[in-house]
Amino acid sequence: MLSPSVEDYVKAIYKAHAARGNVATQELAEALQVSAPAVSKMLRRLAELRLISHTPYQGVKLTRAGEKMALEVIRHHRLIELYLVQAMGYSWDAVHEEAERLEHHISEEFEERIDTLLGHPATCPHGDPIPTRGGTIEPTSNRALAQQQEPARLVVRRVSDASAELLRHFHEIGVTPGTAIEFVEQEPFEGAFVVKVGGKRVRLTPHAAEQVFVDPIVSRGRGS
Ligand SMILES: [Zn+2]
Ligand SMILES: [Zn+2]
Repeated sequence: MLSPSVEDYVKAIYKAHAARGNVATQELAEALQVSAPAVSKMLRRLAELRLISHTPYQGVKLTRAGEKMALEVIRHHRLIELYLVQAMGYSWDAVHEEAERLEHHISEEFEERIDTLLGHPATCPHGDPIPTRGGTIEPTSNRALAQQQEPARLVVRRVSDASAELLRHFHEIGVTPGTAIEFVEQEPFEGAFVVKVGGKRVRLTPHAAEQVFVDPIVSRGRGS
């Protein structure tokens, strides 16, 4: 693997921040598959470029310029994924890796043409929001199915695209963005998460349930 670029770092920092609100050096090292000293060195460079502010006890934070760069790369990534699925017939488990490479290379015009061709889509095939050209992004669910305890009707907002194998599994059992599901129970002893999808009972391992992000379906017409 080539050593990760400035864009890769900025994107990894953005994602860690969005998921957990803080960014640890060790976490970046794992995400980018580099050593902790390599991360520290790059963080100094990013600070010089004014893409991050790095204060001893508060960790790493993207500046507005850093955030704009991250959102731009993420916009490329998610538009490319959708283009590969919709225009080129790729399956949703095969596009993330392609997009990881291509995201750094397309021009602004190419990006605009894909966006127009696809009808200005709001999300990638995995349900992740596509940032606007101006560098804003819609909030989305950070609530993993694995956090669910009480039975509830839920809508799948997005699934992690980190594992192709898991994506194929989600596709098979029908756990895809926009699908309404019913959470039934978690089996005893930290067992499987049982959900109903289209009337069928399916079981997800706790690990798989960590990768599915949901919102509750609020039934209308009832006072609260
Ligand atoms: Zn992806
Ligand atoms: Zn995606």
